[in-house]
Amino acid sequence: MGSNLADPQLQVTTAIEELAQLPESRLGGVSSLYRSVPMGPADQPDYINAVARLETRLDAHALLDALQAIEHRHQRVREGERWGPRTLDLDLLLYGQQHIHDDRLDVPHVGMGERNFVLYPLAELMTEDMLIPGLGSLAKLLPDCSAEGLEKIS
Ligand code: ATP
Ligand code: CA
Ligand code: CA
Ligand code: CA
Repeated sequence: MGSNLADPQLQVTTAIEELAQLPESRLGGVSSLYRSVPMGPADQPDYINAVARLETRLDAHALLDALQAIEHRHQRVREGERWGPRTLDLDLLLYGQQHIHDDRLDVPHVGMGERNFVLYPLAELMTEDMLIPGLGSLAKLLPDCSAEGLEKIS
């Protein structure tokens, strides 16, 4: 999860509650909240990020539909600019140990192996020896991923 507009901390905590309400799903854990400097365009506010674990019977595409519906409820507006500011971004990082590649989904999420605002919160939810399909263990990825610009806030 990420947000950098319209009370980002509230956007993220509300999104966590909405994830907990999804059908056929149970919230299995939530990381701390983190503040991070923006990736991409620098002329935008810092982000609030967190990672959640969901135990769900929804398939990956139904889950993406549900995540996008939540983004929509948070008045997310799609501007032209890549990685521009947004009220709420919900990315599906992992779906079990599956690889999914089609016109709507790339799972594991592209770039997650290099993004400190993904790996550090994720590390709170995964054991270090758990594997990210195609990338290996967090224990191997974390030492190569600087925590610069990332701050745990709760
Ligand atoms: P990034 O994906 O690099 O973090 P972003 O989150 O800003 O960038 P978006 O504009 O939110 O990108 O998403 C663009 C599209 O990415 C979505 O319409 C969706 O179909 C696609 N997508 C592919 N894989 C995933 C995934 N694992 N989770 C969420 N969206 C995904
Ligand atoms: Ca800009
Ligand atoms: Ca994203
Ligand atoms: Ca996204």
